[in-house]
Amino acid sequence: MRFERSAPATLAEWEAVWAKTSLPAGMWLDGEWNAALDGSVATLVTPRDGSDLTVVPAGRAEDVDRAVAGARRAFEAGTWSRLPPRERGDVLLRWADLMEEHREELALLIALEMGKPAATAWAVEVRTSIGLVRWYGELADKLMDESPRGRPDSVAIVSREPLGVVAAITPWNFPMTLSCFKVPAALVAGNSVVLKPASQTPLSMLRVAELGSRAGLPDGVFQVVTGSGPVIGDALARHRGVDTLSFTGSPAVGARLLRAAGESNLKPVALELGGKSPNLIFEDVDDLDAAMDTAAWAIAFNSGQMCTAGSRLLVHASLHDEVVAGVTERLAAVRAGDPLDPSTEFGPLATRRHREDVAAEIRRGRESGARLVLGSEEIPGGPGFHLPPAVFTGVSPGDRLAQHEIFGPVLSVLSFHDEDEAIVIANHSDYGLGASVWTGSLRRAHQVSRRIVAGTVWVNCFEEGDASVPFGGRKLSGHGADKSVHGLDKFTALKTTWMAL
Ligand code: NAD
Repeated sequence: MRFERSAPATLAEWEAVWAKTSLPAGMWLDGEWNAALDGSVATLVTPRDGSDLTVVPAGRAEDVDRAVAGARRAFEAGTWSRLPPRERGDVLLRWADLMEEHREELALLIALEMGKPAATAWAVEVRTSIGLVRWYGELADKLMDESPRGRPDSVAIVSREPLGVVAAITPWNFPMTLSCFKVPAALVAGNSVVLKPASQTPLSMLRVAELGSRAGLPDGVFQVVTGSGPVIGDALARHRGVDTLSFTGSPAVGARLLRAAGESNLKPVALELGGKSPNLIFEDVDDLDAAMDTAAWAIAFNSGQMCTAGSRLLVHASLHDEVVAGVTERLAAVRAGDPLDPSTEFGPLATRRHREDVAAEIRRGRESGARLVLGSEEIPGGPGFHLPPAVFTGVSPGDRLAQHEIFGPVLSVLSFHDEDEAIVIANHSDYGLGASVWTGSLRRAHQVSRRIVAGTVWVNCFEEGDASVPFGGRKLSGHGADKSVHGLDKFTALKTTWMAL
């Protein structure tokens, strides 16, 4: 069953969705809402206007114990882990249908919890998340084990088995999509999953978890624990009952998780981390307008709070002034506003504290001698944690503006004179997540893509992709892959069964 519908078209229509939405108020454990064992709660603040939104349980280590124990019980019971793969896939397909049915509500929850325009959440984040659940649901019975052509006196089977209990820790910038990069893949492989969403943004995935139970996930197979990162995240990383950990977030927390795993049961830790993605515009670009539209979008989308944000714009010197003028003009015209208003293109930053951090980076950049051609570190008045886009020129490759991940709408423009120099600058980063190359030359498209160290290179586009291709990073951007068939690797163990005939 597919539901074709269009998004609410007015602010009043989104407010009507809110009027009939009840906010999740518990952790989703063992198929029901639960308070924290000690009754603690944390208040969520909406970046829409800075008001208190609701409270959710502030879990502690004993809540993690409860979640992991329930996930383990469910795994051992076999009602999910030993189900025929097609039946697991069918549950995921029903789950995707339910998410489609609740698409407005899910988009609203994302808008309220982290400030993304609801229309964008509806059209991009929730659609992508539904697509991921559906894609893994369809894949369920299309995976094959191997039997190498071995010796005549034996048969070898190389099979993939679920690991048991998977922990997933995810950030606030795409609270649903980045969780759905992991959860359906881990589940379709037969694991149980304990998800810790970012402490600022648990609501959308709590609702998704409840829908999963309605779709037929047995109790305990998908648990969502709420609470602070240092408490819940650390407890999961140290838990001896967790078989593997998949993390998306900052390199600093990734490093902590590796240490915690090393100090406990040596669980594998897959890391999707930060980025400082270069966006290269060569002098032979075919469509300069498209390149400038995309360069502006690549730093304004999600208010720049993207691991893949095109935060370093590398432009051939002959185009530098034209591109700076064009991109600046586009960014100045971006419509900021209420995340529930469908005409809003640019929402507030996710938290008051994050806005202060981004503003401090703009001040630091200005004081460093780079030229601020758009934006300001001044915090605007009015409701919501807004901060308009900023553009710096005169940035050198080693400057903090070209090295530090700001995770906000701050663009650094650098220039280059030839292909080799462009590649050296592009690779002059601790990160290696995404990169974009704008050129009309087939040779250059291939050769530059090969030489850039990144998990994904886009040619004459940016941020494109779907569930069928892997997403991951190199260097400080992490390792491994989410999405695609490769996204299953970290959630399965290879087993060799060797039989003498
Ligand atoms: P973060 O690392 O602060 O938090 C990520 C998650 O870890 C959250 O759930 C948080 O509660 C938890 N956490 C925080 N402190 C912890 C601790 N001490 N121990 C265990 N868990 C802890 O990151 P963020 O601020 O939520 O997100 C921004 C970062 O995430 C940026 O660096 C961004 O580039 C990165 N990111 C990467 C990708 C990717 O796919 N590569 C996608 C989105 C965001």
